Amino acid sequence: MTTTTVAFDLDGTLVSEWSAPRTVALPGAVSALRWCRQRGYRVVLYSWNTEATCLWRLRAAGIPPGLFDAVLAVPLKTATVFDRVLGPLLADGPLVVVGNSWRHDVVPALGRADAIVWTRGGRAPGVMGTPPDTWRYPVRRPRSVATLPRVLPVALADGYDKAAWLPYRRAVLEPEACAAGAGGDQWGRPTLFDRLASSESVSPWPWDDARQGDGRARSG
Ligand SMILES: [Mg+2]
Repeated sequence: MTTTTVAFDLDGTLVSEWSAPRTVALPGAVSALRWCRQRGYRVVLYSWNTEATCLWRLRAAGIPPGLFDAVLAVPLKTATVFDRVLGPLLADGPLVVVGNSWRHDVVPALGRADAIVWTRGGRAPGVMGTPPDTWRYPVRRPRSVATLPRVLPVALADGYDKAAWLPYRRAVLEPEACAAGAGGDQWGRPTLFDRLASSESVSPWPWDDARQGDGRARSG
C-alpha cells in the first residue's frame, strides 16, 4: 500500500504573503486541504518559518493546524533540505509539492517530487527567481490552490521524466549553514510524524529553537 504525500508551502500559498498587513487564508486553501485529507493523502506543511510562526499564522488565518499530519519547519528551502526532510517520504509513495515560490518550492522539487504545483499568484516571470519560460517545466501552474482538486490528480497521472529534470535543481545555492546542519539522526522518520503537540515533531534544525516565537515570518 502506498501513501501519497502532499507538501504545502505556507506564505503566499495557503495564507497571505508574510509581508501583507493581515494574515488571511487564501481562497480555496481550507477546501483544498480538506479535499486532500478526504482522499487519504498525507498532508504536511513545509515552510520556511519556525514552527511557532507557522502555527500562529495558520490560526490567524483560521486554518486548523489539525488539517496537517506534520509541520515541517525548515530554515531554508534548498535541494539539500528537500532531500533530507521530504525525501524519506518518497519511500511511502508519490510526493506532491504545492507552493508559490519558483526558487524555493519548485526548483528543489524538480526531479524528486512526482508532481509539482506552482500556485503562481502574482509571481511573474523574472520575479524572485521565476524564469521567463515556466511553461517549459513539468509544473502545473494554477493561479491558486482553489483548483487543486482538478489539477493534482492530472499532474500525478501524467507524471514526468524525473531523471531528465534532476539537473535543474541547482538554481538554489546551498549556503554553508545548510551543510553545517547535515548529518546526525535528528531527521528520524518516527518523530517527524508525531502529532503537532509533540515538541520533537518539528524542530529539524539545532538552532531553530532559538528562533521560536520571534514572530517573524520569512519570504518564500
Ligand atoms: Mg511561499
